[in-house]
Amino acid sequence: MIESGRDWSVVDGDSSNTSGIGDNAVSSESFPDRIELGCDADEAVSLIRTLADAGFVAYLAGGCVRDALLGITPKDYDVATNATPQAVRKVFGKSRTLAFGASFGVIGVLPPNQQRENVHQQVTEVATFRSDGTYSDGRRPDSVHFGDPEQDALRRDFTINGLFYDPVDDRLIDFVGGRQDLRSGLLRTIGDPNDRFAEDRLRMLRAVRFAATLGFEIDPATRSAVVQHSRSLEVVSGERIGAEMRRLLVSRFALRGINDLVQLDLAGKVLPELLQMQISSVAARCEAARSDDFRYQLAAILSLSSDPSQALRGVSECWKLSNEETRAISSALKFHRLLTEFNETAWSVTQPIMINRDIESILDLAAVIAESQPNDQWRRSVSAARQRLDWSKDRLNPDPFLTGDDLRELGVPPGPEYSKLLSKARSLQLDGELTSHEAATRWVLTRKER
Ligand code: ATP
Ligand code: MG
Repeated sequence: MIESGRDWSVVDGDSSNTSGIGDNAVSSESFPDRIELGCDADEAVSLIRTLADAGFVAYLAGGCVRDALLGITPKDYDVATNATPQAVRKVFGKSRTLAFGASFGVIGVLPPNQQRENVHQQVTEVATFRSDGTYSDGRRPDSVHFGDPEQDALRRDFTINGLFYDPVDDRLIDFVGGRQDLRSGLLRTIGDPNDRFAEDRLRMLRAVRFAATLGFEIDPATRSAVVQHSRSLEVVSGERIGAEMRRLLVSRFALRGINDLVQLDLAGKVLPELLQMQISSVAARCEAARSDDFRYQLAAILSLSSDPSQALRGVSECWKLSNEETRAISSALKFHRLLTEFNETAWSVTQPIMINRDIESILDLAAVIAESQPNDQWRRSVSAARQRLDWSKDRLNPDPFLTGDDLRELGVPPGPEYSKLLSKARSLQLDGELTSHEAATRWVLTRKER
């Protein structure tokens, strides 16, 4: 089945709604009647022309066709061709090609005359049409076989990801009904969803993530197959779960994704805390948190948990978060509440937070929590805290009037008393009750006498 790309009509995400719940992403707006490729597609199109001139069939494939049809700028442009990996290397020459996925039939092609620095930014993936063999580990095919475009479309996960586009003849090539599903805002597997999820469990999480990113509904048969297979999500690695969840949390319809995770029985495997939460509270937090930084979205959700630190430990382990990510979220969870009481709290108590390396995430989370309060006392506090960051470094974190050396010189015997005195003197200094080194020294001497 080969169709012309000229008769597109309908669909796009609803730009006015950000909640992602209860609304249909399909609007009456029209699809463009042809794909408008930006100049970022020039490199891929030129590769396709070169392959075509050498007598091969080559198309844009998968995500870039989907996104271009939806009017979204594709992240990258993948090419699918009937040229074998060896033929691709022959057409473009060894120096322009990288055999990084040759066993799966994928060759990376560099732009002409490029240095091999930043190759990952410049490389276009050119994959030979293939069909996947059997799957025995629930994640990857045991083998692949080169095939024709139709087989290559059929091995792909969802109909909206199974489209090809021939930029030379301006033709959309649809073996899987992807065009209609894009138009209706529907996410469904290619073929029997039970088989497709049994082959590769990661697809269940991809389904939820694509629905959340595009604001699409998941087709009922695909939904019930996810529920059937949800328990076996555990064969998917933490890194892959983490990668999908990061994208889901920052997606435009994140709340739809979160709802789907719960309804499709996936939440227990990826974010079990959700099961204890009121979806309306999660909705309010997600709404206020809107950010393209997933750490901040995650902190906003975990702050609803009965034990946020423990919840974070679980997520960090499950999604394989980096130490820096875990630390920033942990600081935000630990300290944000104090910033909502910034105006009523001594500077000596809030100052250590204001100089914390993660102050931006702490402030952002505090702002989200303040936003969900009916009165604006907390909002005022958080905004006062934010303004405080304008203070000069010296004013924000002045050198201490007293050091351990000073105490030794003053004859204070070493021991636990030391750090208590130093920290008390620091507090008095920050709160303006000690105003000089001399005053601090006098303060120590009077305490010693007592
Ligand atoms: P994005 O890059 O925005 O996540 P994408 O559709 O390009 O979206 P990729 O993961 O880059 O997704 O994969 C490229 C294409 O490869 C997909 O469009 C799909 O056709 C196919 N694909 C990717 N992962 C799978 C999978 N697990 N099972 C089957 N096909 C897949
Ligand atoms: Mg992609």
